[in-house]
Amino acid sequence: MTTTTVEAPPSIPNKEIKKPTRIPQKGCSFLIQDSNPDHIFISEEWNEEQRMIYDMVKDFCVKEVFNEMKNRGREFEADKDRDEIIQILEKSAELGLCGVSIGEQYGGIDLDFNTSCLFAEAVAYGFSFATTIGAQTSIGSLPIVYYGTEEQKQKYLPGIASAELKAAYCLTEPRAGSDANSGKTSAVLNEAGTHYILNGQKMWITNGGFADIFIVFARIDDDKNLSAFIIEKDFGGITIGAEERKLGIKGSSTVQVFFEDCPVPKENLLGERNGGFKIALNILNTGRIKLAAGATGGCKIAIDQAVNYAQQREQFGQAIASFGAIKHKIGQMTVLAFAGDAATYRTGQNISDKTKQFLAEDKSENEAKLNGIREYAVECSILKVKCSENVDYCIDECLQIFGGMGYSAEAGIEMGYRDARITRIYEGTNEINRMLSLAELTKRAIKTKEVDLVSAGKKIPAYIIRQMLPFKSNTGWKQEERIVKNIKTLFMMLSGKAGQKLKEKLVDEQEIVINFADILAEAYIAESVLLKVQKLEKNKLYQGEDFAVRKKILQVYLYESINICRKAAQDAIHAFATGREKNMLRRFTKTLLPMYDVNVKALRRDIAEYVYSKGGYTL
Ligand SMILES: Cc1cc2nc3c(=O)[nH]c(=O)nc-3n(C[C@H](O)[C@H](O)[C@H](O)COP(=O)(O)OP(=O)(O)OC[C@H]3O[C@@H](n4cnc5c(N)ncnc54)[C@H](O)[C@@H]3O)c2cc1C
Repeated sequence: MTTTTVEAPPSIPNKEIKKPTRIPQKGCSFLIQDSNPDHIFISEEWNEEQRMIYDMVKDFCVKEVFNEMKNRGREFEADKDRDEIIQILEKSAELGLCGVSIGEQYGGIDLDFNTSCLFAEAVAYGFSFATTIGAQTSIGSLPIVYYGTEEQKQKYLPGIASAELKAAYCLTEPRAGSDANSGKTSAVLNEAGTHYILNGQKMWITNGGFADIFIVFARIDDDKNLSAFIIEKDFGGITIGAEERKLGIKGSSTVQVFFEDCPVPKENLLGERNGGFKIALNILNTGRIKLAAGATGGCKIAIDQAVNYAQQREQFGQAIASFGAIKHKIGQMTVLAFAGDAATYRTGQNISDKTKQFLAEDKSENEAKLNGIREYAVECSILKVKCSENVDYCIDECLQIFGGMGYSAEAGIEMGYRDARITRIYEGTNEINRMLSLAELTKRAIKTKEVDLVSAGKKIPAYIIRQMLPFKSNTGWKQEERIVKNIKTLFMMLSGKAGQKLKEKLVDEQEIVINFADILAEAYIAESVLLKVQKLEKNKLYQGEDFAVRKKILQVYLYESINICRKAAQDAIHAFATGREKNMLRRFTKTLLPMYDVNVKALRRDIAEYVYSKGGYTL
């Protein structure tokens, strides 16, 4: 770890929009409405305080974690460096970082939701430490923040905020991973009625090696669903397994935790009996968007590293940065980082704004926060999937740009490559999240009727016919707006047809469901990029090449989106449709996704040149 540095230019654009006119969009409404750029948040709107928090967290992670690893010439390892990792966590608490989501009355700093996402982006500079502090501030403490009684909050939250108490979240079991509600850990009330007696085994528990309190999910008697408990290590009957030997995030503690007749005072039941699975799911929603923010931070780090190296490394008598193949990679990495940023903070602010709206409607604070997040469960799943795949792409290409040096432990890039891989697995695997996004949307369309897909579906035939007519004008944003609208229409058309044909059997046709999830995700992310660039233009935030490069990013994103959707649509149509219907759907798909006439080679080159000129990602 000697050749690289993360001393990158500031990643937060320093612009402010004077009069935000946002109103929170309803969850999933992006699919059936034309969104307005005024109604979304963009990262140019971070205020001074938010930028300061970002810089402070990033500086802390670079100094305490990344530079420390460079000095040692090796990464942190949970079994060897346990004490140092604990010390870093405690030091971060001195700056308030362990209390980012904890109320001030309990010793926290209670950042609003979107700022807590920005925090998650900044801790990406801590590599595996991001997982450690993530477990402390998110899955290990939010169940108490959202579902705890006043007594529970007073007892545990101040200790978590100060890191005197290290927190862990125990849901997964050896036989219950994705199917978490099938866990076998049992809880039985003792005869005196004072304690639940817990027995069972939890696996892959982050921070488990040094945690003082565990949020544990267990089944009381033969209940249908799990219940949640706050368990102190000192309750007894708890054995901690050895540190797992992992591919990456080696500096983060991951262990098995065994409960053998562990007595848990009955007042440590968290939330309602049978309500634990709901807690687990809601907490995972918050984890998913924060993971997306962290992964987007990882993309930006990978770009900075790659640009720095590519500009220095010479082959064939010139810097490798000058080669088209390298510009292609830097250009594409930049497009993905920009897209992840646009969609993540659009959603994060919607959650913040929705929470405020619920509070104004006299909902309790917990209810407001929880409902605010639940509203955007579909968007959170989309972000988790797309941003985790973005960071894997970016760090893979970064390693490739480093060539042999990328493969060597010396440059530290292989560590980032290994660390990033977990993001596709935890907080619900990407397969599960793809299916969840469709299942949740379907529930809102059919069961709760929150999203009126039926009315939107009725307009599709006339809309497609209009697309067949020659367009009067492609000026302004018309073409880009049409692409986004057409992707949405494609999703509704195909998922509607497959639903009519396969009915409840559709859920078993997972490949098709995943095709639809990919189109849905493209609709959301492509629209987020479009709205961001439109808002930038409307507010005249950038001029000349500074604005032009952002428009070029949009064009590359849309071009790629069309390709992704075209393939997903073809795969799905061949899988469920036959005869005339198949031909008709193929024809309609072609109509909805015509060639987008842009030269992506030139666009990516221009984007790369721009990033080179800035010395890294500054968008
Ligand atoms: C480093 C690390 C840290 C972790 N930290 C924590 C923690 O702090 N607390 C905690 O509770 N858990 C934690 N986990 C567990 C993590 O959430 C699970 O690993 C994850 O949910 C997947 O479960 P699994 O590993 O059992 O895989 P499985 O569920 O066995 O899945 C294996 C494969 O099958 C696929 N699959 C499963 N079911 C389906 C289905 N119905 N349809 C299609 N495909 C399916 C999955 O997508 C995956 O590709 C951690 C895991 C790791 C590796």
